[in-house]
Amino acid sequence: MQKISENYIDGRFQPVSGDEQAPLFNPATEEQIGIVRLSNAADVDTAVAAAKRTFPVMAHSTVPERIAMLRRLADVVAAHGDAMASAMGQEYGAPTYFIDYSARRAGSVFFDMAKVLESYAWQRRIGAAEVEMRPIGVAAAITPWNSDFGFICAKLATAIAAGTSIVIKPSEMSALQTHVLLQALHQADLPAGALNIVNGSGAVAGAALTAHRDIAKISFTGSTGTGRAILHAAAERMARVTLELGGKGAQIILDDADLDTVAAQALASGFINSGQACIAGTRILVPAGLKAALQDRLVAALDHWPVGPASDPSSCIGPMVSQKQWDRVQSYIRLGQAEGATLLAGGEGRPMGLDRGWFVRPTLFTDVDNSMRIAREEIFGPVLSIIAYQGEADAIRIANDSDYGLQNYLLGTDPDRLKRVARQLDSGRVVINGAAHEPLAPFGGVKQSGIGREFGSFGLDAFLEPRTVLA
Ligand code: NAD
Repeated sequence: MQKISENYIDGRFQPVSGDEQAPLFNPATEEQIGIVRLSNAADVDTAVAAAKRTFPVMAHSTVPERIAMLRRLADVVAAHGDAMASAMGQEYGAPTYFIDYSARRAGSVFFDMAKVLESYAWQRRIGAAEVEMRPIGVAAAITPWNSDFGFICAKLATAIAAGTSIVIKPSEMSALQTHVLLQALHQADLPAGALNIVNGSGAVAGAALTAHRDIAKISFTGSTGTGRAILHAAAERMARVTLELGGKGAQIILDDADLDTVAAQALASGFINSGQACIAGTRILVPAGLKAALQDRLVAALDHWPVGPASDPSSCIGPMVSQKQWDRVQSYIRLGQAEGATLLAGGEGRPMGLDRGWFVRPTLFTDVDNSMRIAREEIFGPVLSIIAYQGEADAIRIANDSDYGLQNYLLGTDPDRLKRVARQLDSGRVVINGAAHEPLAPFGGVKQSGIGREFGSFGLDAFLEPRTVLA
């Protein structure tokens, strides 16, 4: 059993002084595989003080120096790809395809930011004004468990590119993954104090970090509820925030779509990362006249989504991260039935043959009305709702009738029509026919999916403040 009892502060591993601990589990076996010591407010103070001391060093670093730091980070993270993949499988049971996408590509975000720096306009002339983009101040990042490396690397890359130092509090549920990543990051030889990582709970370390007077910027990825609490804490001193929160994405299947292709794509977007993804397309909107035909294909396509542990490379859906999350998904499956939705596939309990582990049955509900809670609330598991619509305008109305607005999906064949519908969707991103992620394009949500954007130059802007000089 692995014991994690150190933070990374001021360029070295330092013992956590807090005396609380939290167990770490393998969700596929329910066995305890580790224990993490949780930081207290004093640990957070130490980390913020180190970041504050180093801020001038980072702020005065040159762009070529930052590019060199980013390239070193990319190299060391890439070199640890196997260890990261293994930790990710063990600690949250992500399926192999997602591990390959996430852990093995985590380092690429540093290259992406280096690319942004190559052409970023730090000085701009606007009429008679000289505008200079300046690092915002010491940054804090708080990340969730459901793709630990990706979030930590993205936020660290942006901070380095901007010339700020950062204190990161990852999820207490992903301490093993964080530990493996830190072994890599330590080798990048950053200025001591540029990167600080504290293990700890949200209630203690997270709250202490977001309330800290020396933190000028908070970049948070996690649930909408926690995002709201962070926004309140930041308001007190007007700290800047980027909030990447929950989602309830719609997948609009247009009436010219090829249903065989669409069924496979709809499950891929709905079940991504075992449904534990903010970007999952969990509401499948289908023309009423095609509903029966699509349902048959979706049920048949479920055969391509076997459930199992990360140790089995053929598994496409892994366990839920925790008992709590398993219970939550089960309660939504019961709720859907109580609300009057029809269970088309899946249902309560574990899949056949998987008696241990927090596995759930991939579940399809049909006859769902968009006002039902299963269509409005983020379930964060492989539970999808099929909603029939009457015409294109109705589909757009239903898709936009959500408190969330992170990522919607469109499936169809006419490119002009797809673009026209995309422009009417109220979300930070729209993905047409399974198009690939574009790493330099902005990512983030509208409404309760968050505030601000990450990645590329938009992400960098959010770690900078313009200063205008009029002469
Ligand atoms: P969570 O909100 O419970 O926790 C996220 C992080 O916030 C953790 O590190 C936690 O310790 C910390 N935290 C909790 N309470 C806090 C507080 N009061 N103050 C400061 N920090 C606090 O979310 P989770 O369960 O870890 O992750 C799942 C959620 O994240 C889902 O809602 C999902 O949609 C969202 N998410 C969003 C994106 C995105 O990019 N939009 C990406 C992934 C996940």
